[in-house]
Amino acid sequence: MSPAIAPAAVETAVADAHRDCTGVNGGKNASYIPYLASVDPSLFGVAVVTVDGQVFEAGDSRVEFALESISKVVTMAVALEDLGAEEFHRRIGADPTGLPFNSVMALELNDDMPLTPLVNAGAMSATSAVQADDKEHRWRRILGAQSRFAGRQITLSDAINTSEQTTNTHNRAIAWLLQCGGAMYSDPMEACEIYTRQCSTLVNTVDLAAMGATLAAGGVNPVTGDRVVSAVNVPHMLAEMTMEGLYTRSGDWAYTVGLPGKSGVGGGLVAVAPGKLAIAGFSPPLDSAGNSVRAQAAVGQVAAALKLGLFRVPGLP
Ligand code: GLN
Repeated sequence: MSPAIAPAAVETAVADAHRDCTGVNGGKNASYIPYLASVDPSLFGVAVVTVDGQVFEAGDSRVEFALESISKVVTMAVALEDLGAEEFHRRIGADPTGLPFNSVMALELNDDMPLTPLVNAGAMSATSAVQADDKEHRWRRILGAQSRFAGRQITLSDAINTSEQTTNTHNRAIAWLLQCGGAMYSDPMEACEIYTRQCSTLVNTVDLAAMGATLAAGGVNPVTGDRVVSAVNVPHMLAEMTMEGLYTRSGDWAYTVGLPGKSGVGGGLVAVAPGKLAIAGFSPPLDSAGNSVRAQAAVGQVAAALKLGLFRVPGLP
């Protein structure tokens, strides 16, 4: 598997996207998590990691930020490996909710069962389904998987974690509803706590690109050579990302960019071009669905410059 894209073209696309999108304004930092409201909104990083392990970056690509919802992809990988694709699909689903990422209504409309691992409900269900002897063992497995996807030791931010654990009452309500629906596989408050921790780890834009490149390369981190997820499970992950990775803007993203992606309310976004590379962006101001405005613009620009949309017909414009 080799990237058909010349390194010079990737380098130019990353530099151009960073330069052109610096002026893209609009959006607001997430404020329902107090810590996130305090992050500098002008921070802006772009990075690409290719399936042969080359790294391209521009701007604030080494500044750390909260992983947030992008953690849902990693935890999905762990639960998918533990349960197998069929059982994972049966328990957690693969359909978009069409509703915001923290929607209670989505649960109410579906007998308190999740539809997808990429919104809060399904993510907490997936966290609870990770096989473990106890709470801390479950946490170590999830943090270990984040580290292997990123290719370096990822750490928890005490400041972000405290900010989230003391304000996550809405997610706790969702966890209890999941318990009602029979979709919690550990104590619901324990699952909510571990889910909140997994959102509160620190990554940079290059880490996000490495995580995406691990999927682009069929489950092997192309920088470390570590197999992080089975090749057979990667298409299931990319399908979930396509359907719900940008919440209620997932369809718009498929229409305009055409790559499986995942965003987080910390301002991170990663998109995967299977067999080729992953593109990541980071900037805190979010649109009303919870996706970084500047990162969407930059990742979209790189994808367009390199003609990466999955729905393109090869050889045609
Ligand atoms: N920790 C956040 C929450 O649970 C993550 C949400 C997100 O990034 N969309 O609300």
